[in-house]
Amino acid sequence: MGVVGCGVGGMAAALALARRGHAVTLLEAFAAPRPLGSGLLLQPTGLAALKALGLDEAIRAAGARVDRLEGRDTRGRRVMDLDYGDWRPGAHGVGIHRAVLFDALHDELSPEGVEVVTDARIVRIESLAKPVLHDQHGRVFGPFDLAIIGDGAASTLRAAIRPASRAPIYPWGAVWTNASDPENRFAGALRQVYHRAEVMSGVLPVGRGPDRAENQVSLFWSLPVADLDAFLDGDFATWRDQRLTPLWPEAAALLAERNDWAGFSRAVYRDVSVGRWNRQACVLIGDAAHGTSPQLGQGANLALVDAVELAARLDRDLRPTAVVVRAWQDQRRRHTGVYQLVSKALTPLFQAHGAFWPLMRDLFFTPMSRWPGLKQLGVLLLTGALRLGRFPPETRP
Ligand SMILES: Cc1cc2nc3c(=O)[nH]c(=O)nc-3n(C[C@H](O)[C@H](O)[C@H](O)COP(=O)(O)OP(=O)(O)OC[C@H]3O[C@@H](n4cnc5c(N)ncnc54)[C@H](O)[C@@H]3O)c2cc1C
Repeated sequence: MGVVGCGVGGMAAALALARRGHAVTLLEAFAAPRPLGSGLLLQPTGLAALKALGLDEAIRAAGARVDRLEGRDTRGRRVMDLDYGDWRPGAHGVGIHRAVLFDALHDELSPEGVEVVTDARIVRIESLAKPVLHDQHGRVFGPFDLAIIGDGAASTLRAAIRPASRAPIYPWGAVWTNASDPENRFAGALRQVYHRAEVMSGVLPVGRGPDRAENQVSLFWSLPVADLDAFLDGDFATWRDQRLTPLWPEAAALLAERNDWAGFSRAVYRDVSVGRWNRQACVLIGDAAHGTSPQLGQGANLALVDAVELAARLDRDLRPTAVVVRAWQDQRRRHTGVYQLVSKALTPLFQAHGAFWPLMRDLFFTPMSRWPGLKQLGVLLLTGALRLGRFPPETRP
């Protein structure tokens, strides 16, 4: 099997396949594979997939338990208040530093026999039925029984498989950074603060960093993509003291020692729409197949579930590979489709100009956080477990 992309989806697919006895070659564009972004919220679904890979305990030990999602506006009103325990007693998410999740997956690859080839940017797929992959240096990999393409939301290979696919960039993006929270004041919840829908800031506890420093958090600040460059060219202290502090003094205090934007990264999101995910023996996985805004915090979780379910189905379904892959994606789309649709519908409620969308948000979410039934639906959505049909045993949360 050939896997393209050393992201969450590609590494999980390579590992799950290798554990089931397949010979796997993983091809990554970067010379030294590295995680992008800062923190992630793993949901019960993603944790179930990590359990199937034997990694959940290490991840739970390194990450930070998240029991609630809280969102308030600048007047202090609770817009969102969702508790995982309302789904199932004891249920929770885990905030994790991306580099820690990356290392947990990456460290397992070589011991499981996965051949990892770096500095291999795949630029061409030859023969979709028996794929042969060509990199930028003219190296050739394959032929493979199956090529799993996990090259992310900005995939350059997607068009070779689905020429009519689209992946426009969302008009809103974000800047992110990690910080230390020595007193653990942000423990237990993903907290967000909104000013209308023009400003959204959040703090997620992520546990240990890759350097083993304890009580790390990820902080984000959302803004229009068109303003990202000007924002990061602006003065850091002015933003912190004049914009973040009045909105959320506790979050600003996390950055008290900083003098500049060092340690911040920018994020843009794409709304990926591809139709079918495969052509013959080439299949898209993760963000390359169904990338969306991270509003519901599901992208990495969906990629993990994609990977584990694909490997399990290839194992138990003995029909030709293209048929098996088709059956797998029919099942997966009953899950990913729900989250793509809802993410798309919710994004303007949190990231938009003007007063209309935040008003809709307050009308929709404030009761959702209080009324039984609606509240349960909100929590189910948060856990990642909303799926039309059942989860197979290997990923059942
Ligand atoms: C700011 C931000 C916050 C997020 N928060 C959350 C969250 O809380 N929870 C959550 O579940 N998700 C979250 N997400 C989404 C999550 O990060 C993605 O859904 C997830 O990383 C997708 O994984 P992937 O493996 O599909 O792609 P990626 O992680 O993008 O990996 C793609 C890999 O492919 C490689 N590659 C690209 N092109 C080629 C090529 N031609 N040849 C070889 N290699 C190639 C890249 O170098 C990269 O290593 C967030 C995203 C962002 C941006």
